Amino acid sequence: MKAFVDQDVCIGCGQCEMICPAVFKLNEGKSTVIQKPVTAENEATAEEAADSCPVAAITFS
Ligand code: SF4
Repeated sequence: MKAFVDQDVCIGCGQCEMICPAVFKLNEGKSTVIQKPVTAENEATAEEAADSCPVAAITFS
């Protein structure tokens, strides 16, 4: 599974990094994906982070 953050949509709230720091990290006010691809052990928390994103900026493929 690969995670993506839409940089034009992300508001830099930090929620995804708080929930799943293994995959998401804020960089200059925007979340970036630091684990590519997302490992099996982090998939559930990465999806939880996506569900918690207030602007739905996180998607998966
Ligand atoms: S939760 Fe959404 S808006 Fe907040 S930093 Fe992460 S991707 Fe950006």
